[in-house]
Amino acid sequence: MRLSDLLSKAPANEEAQVERFLNSHLAWGKHKTIEVGKVAINFKCKTCDDVRTFMSGDKLSCLGVGDRVVSIDACLKCPICEATIEAWFLVVSRDGLYEQAPTVRLERYVDNRRGLASRVGVGVGDFDDLLERAQLAYEEQLGAGAMVYLRKIFEAITKQVADIAGISTTGKNGGRKPFRNLLKEVDEKHHIIPPVFSSDGYKLFEELSDIVHGDSSEEVALQKYHPCRRLVIGIIRNVASDQEMKQAIDALGWNINKLDVPSSGAMAS
Ligand SMILES: [Zn+2]
Repeated sequence: MRLSDLLSKAPANEEAQVERFLNSHLAWGKHKTIEVGKVAINFKCKTCDDVRTFMSGDKLSCLGVGDRVVSIDACLKCPICEATIEAWFLVVSRDGLYEQAPTVRLERYVDNRRGLASRVGVGVGDFDDLLERAQLAYEEQLGAGAMVYLRKIFEAITKQVADIAGISTTGKNGGRKPFRNLLKEVDEKHHIIPPVFSSDGYKLFEELSDIVHGDSSEEVALQKYHPCRRLVIGIIRNVASDQEMKQAIDALGWNINKLDVPSSGAMAS
C-alpha cells in the first residue's frame, strides 16, 4: 500500500503498512516534497451537486514534527468543476518512520471545504447535515456533542414515522409520550431498527440518552459513537426503503432518489 491509499481513507483513523516515503530523517520544522501517489477522497461537490472524488496532485508537502510524526498538506480538486479544498493529515508511525515499509496510522485529519463541498452522507438532506455535524464533533473528540446530533436524528425520524403511521406521540396524560415507548410502538409496526441491532437497538438508544444527559464520560461517548452512528444510518435507510413509507416520505421532501440503499431493489421506482 502507498501512503496515499491510507490518506484516502480519511476521516477513518486507519493503520497500515505502507511503502517507504522518506529516505532520510526529516527534522522538526523541515519540509520535504513527497511522491506517494494521489490522495483521492469522496465529497459531495456543491457546484456539481453530486458525489465527486476530489484528487490531490502527484506531490504532497510533508513537514517534520517528531521522530515518528509528520504533518502532510494536500490540495484536493473536483475533477469536473475544479473546485478546490484543503486537507491536512497527521501521520504517526508505530516504529521507525524511515524503515523500508513503516506501519503508520492516520492520527488526525482536518479538511477545509470552504462551503464548496460536504462530507458524503446517506443522501437524505436534513439528516445528512446532522450526520456531518455528528462526525465533525467526533473528529474534534467532542463525544457528548457528537451524540447529541445522533440522538436528534434518531428522535426526529422516529417521530416522523409515527406521524406517517398514525401512531400518537402523546401519552396518557396528554403530555409527550416517553420516547422509548414511542420507539417501541413504531418499531413493532414498521421495523425501523435494522435486524443487526434488533436485540440492542433500545439499549443503544438508552446509552445515547445517558450520554446526552451527562451520565457518561466523554471517553464512553467516543467509544459508543460508531455503533450509535451505524444504528442511526441503518434506521434512515430502513425507513427510506419501506414501500409503505415511500409515498409519505416523498411528501416530506426527503431527497431519496440519491439514497444509497443496499441492493435489495426496494428503491427502484
Ligand atoms: Zn465539482
